Amino acid sequence: MISLAAKPALSGLTDDDLSEWLTARGQPPYRARQIRQDLWRGALIEAMSELPSELRQELTEDFRSHSLEEIRRTEADQASTTKLLYRLEGGYTVEAVVMRYERRTTLCISSQVGCPIGCPFCATGQGSFGRNLRSHEIVDQGVDAARLLRQEGRRLSHLVFMGMGEPMANYEAVLAAVRCLAEPGGLGISPRRITVSTAGLVPRIERLAAEGLPVTLAISLHAARDELRDDLVPINRKYPLAAVVAAADRFGQQTGRRVSYEWVVLAGVNDSERDARELGSLLRGRLAHVNLIPFNPVDDTPYREPEAPALRRFAAQIRAQGLNVTLRDTRGREGDAACGQLRARVERELG
Ligand code: SAH
Ligand code: SF4
Repeated sequence: MISLAAKPALSGLTDDDLSEWLTARGQPPYRARQIRQDLWRGALIEAMSELPSELRQELTEDFRSHSLEEIRRTEADQASTTKLLYRLEGGYTVEAVVMRYERRTTLCISSQVGCPIGCPFCATGQGSFGRNLRSHEIVDQGVDAARLLRQEGRRLSHLVFMGMGEPMANYEAVLAAVRCLAEPGGLGISPRRITVSTAGLVPRIERLAAEGLPVTLAISLHAARDELRDDLVPINRKYPLAAVVAAADRFGQQTGRRVSYEWVVLAGVNDSERDARELGSLLRGRLAHVNLIPFNPVDDTPYREPEAPALRRFAAQIRAQGLNVTLRDTRGREGDAACGQLRARVERELG
């Protein structure tokens, strides 16, 4: 007997495959659209009430509704943060985090199981790489969060690719997911409210610039000299700083969007006046914004989080270089800290 989990997800069918499946069962073509919209609403097959019951029955025999199975939910920050852990096909797990604010609700989304880049301060980078997420698995994170929020009378308004994985290393699936999540007939999240964060895969940043898709690009910089960035963001050995910043500039020119530069502050490693000066020389005069993220401690790493005064001093030194800089508090760290970092990181960006 086939177990439920072994059935393919209906949400993972392409439009063509869905139409073909329906035609083979003598169904009219408009059913495909109906089913797709129900799926975008987060409905289960059993609840697709406008479908004939025999069709629902046939669908349930062949498919499960969505690709993600929620296996754990953790609340933090007086329930304004919800961390969700999902199981995917193949038994892999990924996280997504819902962050509720006064005027917006942001979902931090994962694009890969693990991450092949291996930054030494990052919990995701420490584990082994599993696989790329497929586009519907990315979309389903949005669909599930939107469904959850709708029950609270809230709307999912922003998305950030700052969960597990390097989105630019899973380019096609991420782009297809962004386009789908932006569909007016679906979740309708404008690309401007979608942030793609990258460790700096230069050819992919250039490709993204050429798509003419006005998403917000966030570059994870963390160091403004190659020698240090080679250690902190190993892909820097392949795509050094000058190339990353030049690609980000082109993205800014193509889309008219201001690029965001992320800087995880590691005490005594990248928070000196010298670092601020180097950052100043690298970014001065550019359409850029610097976000300082206090390091969120990860076990078995040699890094420490900075003290508040040191953080403020570093932010002031960067500001003195003539750059726009935001420094956030560390709200979101209670409860399961592994993703608490997301909230701090994500806050400044869209605020
Ligand atoms: N791979 C992409 C996106 C996911 S990581 C990237 O690196 O940009 C999203 C952000 O979280 C990155 O800026 C990353 O540097 C940051 N980050 C990773 N580990 C962290 C930690 N322990 N504390 C604070 N920020 C962290
Ligand atoms: Fe991957 Fe981003 Fe973590 Fe680096 S910081 S290991 S690129 S998820």
